[in-house]
Amino acid sequence: MQKQVATPALGLLGSFIPVAAESHFPIQNLPYGTFRRRTGELPRIGVAIGDYVLDLAALAENGCFSHPQAAVREALSQSTLNAFMALGPLAWAMVRVELQNLLSAQNSILRDHAALRDAVLIPQSQVTLCMPVDIGDYTDFYASKEHASNVGTLWRGKDNALMPNWTHMPIGYHGRASSVVISGTPVRRPSGQILSNGASVPQFGPSGILDFELEMGFFIGPGNALGRPVSVRDAASHIFGLVLVNDWSARDIQKWEYQPLGPFLGKSFATSLSPWIVPLAALAPFRVPSPAQDPAPLPYLQSVGDWALNIELAVALKTAAMNAPAQISRSNMRYLYWNMLQQLAHHSSNGCNLRPGDLLASGTISGPTPDSFGSLLELTWNGANPLKLPSGEERKFLEDGDTVVMNAYAQGEGYRVGFGEVRGTVAPALKP
Ligand code: CA
Repeated sequence: MQKQVATPALGLLGSFIPVAAESHFPIQNLPYGTFRRRTGELPRIGVAIGDYVLDLAALAENGCFSHPQAAVREALSQSTLNAFMALGPLAWAMVRVELQNLLSAQNSILRDHAALRDAVLIPQSQVTLCMPVDIGDYTDFYASKEHASNVGTLWRGKDNALMPNWTHMPIGYHGRASSVVISGTPVRRPSGQILSNGASVPQFGPSGILDFELEMGFFIGPGNALGRPVSVRDAASHIFGLVLVNDWSARDIQKWEYQPLGPFLGKSFATSLSPWIVPLAALAPFRVPSPAQDPAPLPYLQSVGDWALNIELAVALKTAAMNAPAQISRSNMRYLYWNMLQQLAHHSSNGCNLRPGDLLASGTISGPTPDSFGSLLELTWNGANPLKLPSGEERKFLEDGDTVVMNAYAQGEGYRVGFGEVRGTVAPALKP
């Protein structure tokens, strides 16, 4: 591995590992994931740096990671991040400082010892990334005002676009944790009950209106006891980190089933995650004000400080006939009306207990302009304006063989804190 002097833009935070300016994984990021080198091997916890994975268990085995607390060392030798997530912000911060020190250009321990580097740093191209968390519960919010207004307008008309409760609380529903999958997992087109236009009775068959939803999600760190809400003031200390989420949706199934209790089978067939969890601490430089909230939220939802995140989001689509994905939307996490602290405080406000590794997703993140919408339902206005692709093809919704690629990063001065990508290809419905 070649040495690299810290670039001025990276300042003291430069690593001895070469990291390109457009890399998602500079030393300022250090996202957590799990990986295996061989099939059959138990996943191990790692941190992404440049094109490498830093193997945390191997670090400990080689005496390079000497965290004083046995609980921390034990948590980092597991096959999922749940135990580490449960330890809380102080433990996370201590580990982060230790890893940044080990990887910095000034530290000789790894920099000057090739055998040691080879034992703990593995090219990402040589590993398979795994689901990093045992997700107990998954909750999906509906926190983008633009998205809620667009869907409401399409399905109920402009006058009933936003329900009267929407501006008073972060609306959400309980999703399905068992079908949350890692990027790269194919997504089978679901079958379900569909009421065709003009029909009076439904039929059962493959969804004809398959869609993606561009979302961000966050993982719960320390949980709360049943019956003891987390206050909005304390909510940030319960957030471990964030991932990029594609919450696949079958609009025809959803539209027939969603009233009065909300989404069910139109959503629960698949949710895809980016494999690296970006620590909340790595995103601190990208906190910006949220959109103004009017009316003012009730006191239990009033967060203090800037908690929107300036994270650029992009969606690209590749059909089976295309050589490369073409970008079809650009959005930004900062558009969200309800922030993560408000979502978390609201979720636990009735005493509901959240547990380490629970996933809370934002709901589709749409911006104010048509090119920033986060779903095909909105981008094509329910199929009225099909997308024109560089291949000459058109798309109203997803067809079999289509691949959706989402990408997210926050742009710093000369570096990016990125999430990598979340990718999935639509597989045909099972034959009846
Ligand atoms: Ca969703």
